[in-house]
Amino acid sequence: MHYHIPSDEQVLNGLKKVLEKFRTVSSQNKLKTLVSKKLTAKKKNYNVSGSRLRNIAINSDFVKLEIHTREGDPKKLLTKCPVCGNILNRVKNLTIWGGEVTIEFRCKKCNYWTGKKKRIPTRYVFHLKK
Ligand SMILES: [Zn+2]
Repeated sequence: MHYHIPSDEQVLNGLKKVLEKFRTVSSQNKLKTLVSKKLTAKKKNYNVSGSRLRNIAINSDFVKLEIHTREGDPKKLLTKCPVCGNILNRVKNLTIWGGEVTIEFRCKKCNYWTGKKKRIPTRYVFHLKK
């Protein structure tokens, strides 16, 4: 089977059609299958990688990404966002009572965040933005 690599615009259009139909898609793999199927309609087989699809979704204005995570190694340093590859911003939070400082890392692009206990992404849910 021969596969074509779709353009960003094609992926974006397919993604929009899929989300307008389903509203919510509960995993990246499911979304990949649905978008690829949508693009394949014109007798060509298209294949889009999951991470590329995720990034196009993050950069679009109609997708709300829900990130499910598990706990990871607290010693591991994260400099880049594990979801979209953007730079993580360090945020300090002072608690009101004890003046204790907690450090958080946040991604401005996709809203991923993590504290000392690292949040490792395990599943993505894609919602159509209202
Ligand atoms: Zn991110």
